[in-house]
Amino acid sequence: MWLCQFNERGFGLVEGNEIVDLTHLLEELPATGYPYPTHDTMIAALPDLLPRIADAKMGPRLPLASVRLQAPVRNPGKFVAAPVNYAKHHEETIADPATFAREHVRKIQETGLFLKATSSSSGPSDPIRTRFPDRRTDHEIELAAVIGRAGSNIAAADALSYIAGYCIGLDITVRGPEERSLRKSIDSYSVLGPWLVTADEIPDPSGLNFELSVNGEIRQKANTSDLIMSVPELIEFASRYYTLHPGDVLFTGTPEGVGPIQPGDKVHANIERIGSISISVDSSE
Ligand code: MN
Repeated sequence: MWLCQFNERGFGLVEGNEIVDLTHLLEELPATGYPYPTHDTMIAALPDLLPRIADAKMGPRLPLASVRLQAPVRNPGKFVAAPVNYAKHHEETIADPATFAREHVRKIQETGLFLKATSSSSGPSDPIRTRFPDRRTDHEIELAAVIGRAGSNIAAADALSYIAGYCIGLDITVRGPEERSLRKSIDSYSVLGPWLVTADEIPDPSGLNFELSVNGEIRQKANTSDLIMSVPELIEFASRYYTLHPGDVLFTGTPEGVGPIQPGDKVHANIERIGSISISVDSSE
């Protein structure tokens, strides 16, 4: 299933060019009050919702083109992200010391993972708003995995059962010497979309072709089989340090071909079996 969030608080099932409106199902989520859960209650309830979604397919529909799609996870607890996780991207960072600060070109096994602020979340209908026009700001296309249930010390062999689904992630990045968490947490610099493809549709997340173009020119083109640390290995690694919760999003890393974007650009990204997004780049002023 392709599950989308749209407009103010719409929830729907994408079928072709239409959305089956499932917003009423959100009324059945467990009631919460202050202090609110620090996970996504819709993602947590997905195992219970999925049979209801199948039953609701005869409900009202609206054209996909008529809505403003939102990021497919509305309340992510954390964005976990993999640094340099494709060998050819590692090579390009080594070859260009003017762009990639030396302290950031180590192997993922040495660097570990980093976190992006969830306030940087942005949906497929929203522009990327560059904040530092005098600094190089890059696109990074990544397979994003959404955690479906809580887990700590998860074994790689079990890891895929903790995934609710997948979407496209753009890890927009200011290049420079500062910590990744600072340079990659700017408002609108974590794009997720166009919807959540439930994990049953992608039993194995390795082997997905994906590509990103800017103004029609292909910049990144790779396959998730080239990941240095696979999706299950990333989940095992991350969950050794912190509990993963429903709605946490794992940015799995970007391949070679990263490059600058600037206001006026149009970024198009596609991942096999997930879909496509087209994002405008604006300035934040
Ligand atoms: Mn990245």
